[in-house]
Amino acid sequence: MNETIFSKIIRREIPADIVYEDDLALAFRDVHPQAPVHILVIPKQPIVSIAEATAADAALLGHLLLTVKQVATQEGLDEGYRVVINTGTDGGQTVFHLHLHLLGKRMMTWPPG
Ligand code: AMP
Repeated sequence: MNETIFSKIIRREIPADIVYEDDLALAFRDVHPQAPVHILVIPKQPIVSIAEATAADAALLGHLLLTVKQVATQEGLDEGYRVVINTGTDGGQTVFHLHLHLLGKRMMTWPPG
């Protein structure tokens, strides 16, 4: 059982600014935005991280990427955007329920910190 704050958001036990939902995925605005648009796309199924994903998750992972694309279009990110998956301690992951950060509406820098 991977119970995190995101599980509570999925169950509507704590509030979130939800911008997209379907049977497999939920997207909501990050509470500490790092860009004018900062949205988290998560699977409803609580995969811990990309490091824990298996071949059985392939279709779901593809769905999450296409959901990012759909939400980016919905948010008008026509000039581009960045998609980030922080993974594990060195990757800076703090919530251990897989999530894709969608960041946009500003110029990104490289390399990331
Ligand atoms: P990460 O550091 O990649 O694990 O990202 C976790 C993200 O979740 C951070 O950007 C947090 O700001 C965000 N976050 C944590 N709690 C909430 C919440 N209740 N609602 C929305 N975003 C949250």
